[in-house]
Amino acid sequence: MDEAQLKQIAATTQYVLLDFDGPVCDLFGNLTPDVIAASLLDELEGVLGGPVDEELADIDDPLDLLDGVSEIYPELIGRVDASVRDAEVDAAELAEVTPGAEAFLAACAEGGLRVAIVSNNGAEAVRALLEMHGLAGFVQHVEGRDPDPRLMKPDPTPLLRAMTALDARPESTVMIGDSPSDMLAASAAGVAAIALLSTPPARSGPPWVSRMSELASLFGAPRT
Ligand SMILES: [Mg+2]
Repeated sequence: MDEAQLKQIAATTQYVLLDFDGPVCDLFGNLTPDVIAASLLDELEGVLGGPVDEELADIDDPLDLLDGVSEIYPELIGRVDASVRDAEVDAAELAEVTPGAEAFLAACAEGGLRVAIVSNNGAEAVRALLEMHGLAGFVQHVEGRDPDPRLMKPDPTPLLRAMTALDARPESTVMIGDSPSDMLAASAAGVAAIALLSTPPARSGPPWVSRMSELASLFGAPRT
């Protein structure tokens, strides 16, 4: 599991960019994305006064829907984005924290690492979950979704903004996330990456772990 590479990254990291849905919580574990997407589509039909474009009709994920709306109904993006943000807060209030996430954040705090959450979800939902679970003090910055969906990861913009907020140098920064878009964004931003994966990757890629508790041990170990 790339132990040497992981240790090397942990030893040189001072700034952590952490994805939200996956590493920190299971955002849509209880309020599921298909339910949210269906309600957004209903709302959109109400606004349009008729059926939505067929390219959108079968979308079952709110962020994919947001992407589609930005292309087909750009004039409605602000309104749909606001509804997605509300739904994400509802989801965050019901979401469970990922096992090991708190231990990881505590290990970072203990080691003096500065942490930013970098999410394609709304910052409102991120803050709601952190506050509900007493985790806000571990996080120095929250970089949520820009109202322009083109700036979502894999675009590196949110990572670069978070690094500016943390005053982070790329050579001592790592992005930790569970999706290919996190890895692509890290590479575009010129920072190291660690993947959180439930099964071993099919192809070689960035070093990976299967549990947040592994990262808690890795980053909690005395660092030289
Ligand atoms: Mg994720």
